[in-house]
Amino acid sequence: MCADRPILMVSPHLDDAVLSVGATVAALVDQGRDVTICTVFAGEPTPPFSEFADAFHTMCGLGDDAVPRRRQEDLEATGILRARSLHLPFLDSIYRLDAIDSFAFLFEAPANDALVEEIAQSIHKSFGDEWPAELWTCAAFGDHVDHRITRAAVARVAREHNLKLVLWEDFPYAAGQAHSAAGRPVSVPDVTPAHLQQKLDAVARYPSQLAMLYDAERDWRDGMELDWRSELLGHAADRLQHGGYELLWQAATSRPR
Ligand SMILES: [Zn+2]
Repeated sequence: MCADRPILMVSPHLDDAVLSVGATVAALVDQGRDVTICTVFAGEPTPPFSEFADAFHTMCGLGDDAVPRRRQEDLEATGILRARSLHLPFLDSIYRLDAIDSFAFLFEAPANDALVEEIAQSIHKSFGDEWPAELWTCAAFGDHVDHRITRAAVARVAREHNLKLVLWEDFPYAAGQAHSAAGRPVSVPDVTPAHLQQKLDAVARYPSQLAMLYDAERDWRDGMELDWRSELLGHAADRLQHGGYELLWQAATSRPR
């Protein structure tokens, strides 16, 4: 066992890890684990921005300083969970993909192998002196291109360095969807209602992303009007019947030790 060694959670965007596994992070930290949330697509783009990026900023209630402000939101959210935060300099697909003209494009764009390799190297470099015992990342439910790239990069690092790879169910992409699995179920003990409350407090620190996901007009979710707290708690209650508030799997590609 390597229970004393850190867990490195690799989040595609500045919100995904907290939205998906915030309660689990809070529980692990309470159990004395050292958790770092490393966000891949946290790089600061240079204006001028595309029409799509400008429209995205408006949906988020942000301007040209969107990424610095989102980084600040993330520091506050991860601070509530008492996790360390690390931001990698890769550009979000919204700034990276020239041809982007709709949200649908983000879910259809092919993953870029060279970028996967570059991100894998950057994640490896971020280990520092003390290597993590486990790497966690998203299962990429919903197929967002940045989520697929992140999962592929983390899987590559896990394979190369023989590290345990844990995948989480992407929220809110999995909300309202039937339960499905991405490997062998992993359960973290003692994730309590207090940890779920801590997650709600942390998620509330991402006002720009909550505005985009829940208040703006959203074609990709059929324009449904939803309250984020109700959706998050409803999803957690549903998943509790399948093993926990937040579902996790050990990926089949990793070599457990
Ligand atoms: Zn994301």
